[in-house]
Amino acid sequence: MRKLISLPAIVAAALLTVSATASDSANIISNASPAEKMVKCSACKGKGITVIETGAMDCHICNGKGKVRQGIRMVKCTTCKGKGQIPWERTGTCSACSGIGKVPKK
Ligand SMILES: [Zn+2]
Ligand SMILES: [Zn+2]
Repeated sequence: MRKLISLPAIVAAALLTVSATASDSANIISNASPAEKMVKCSACKGKGITVIETGAMDCHICNGKGKVRQGIRMVKCTTCKGKGQIPWERTGTCSACSGIGKVPKK
């Protein structure tokens, strides 16, 4: 039973280590000396977030056909603009600037 109880403690410790490392790296950047000029991060254009992944999925309104039935007629699906596919993108914290949108000028 002792092993079962100790396992969540190990996971919690690992999570603490991860969050501590993340905040440490953020502190290092924000506490940079004033002499060190900060410039807008080019990787995320200063937004702090970047697109990690993009793709397209079948439109759920027209089931990928690009057209929907309206009475007796088939009309262009407005949700996907007739393409049948809806683009999606997954964004996340910019790894180049740790999400602050600025990087020290080299
Ligand atoms: Zn559609
Ligand atoms: Zn960035």
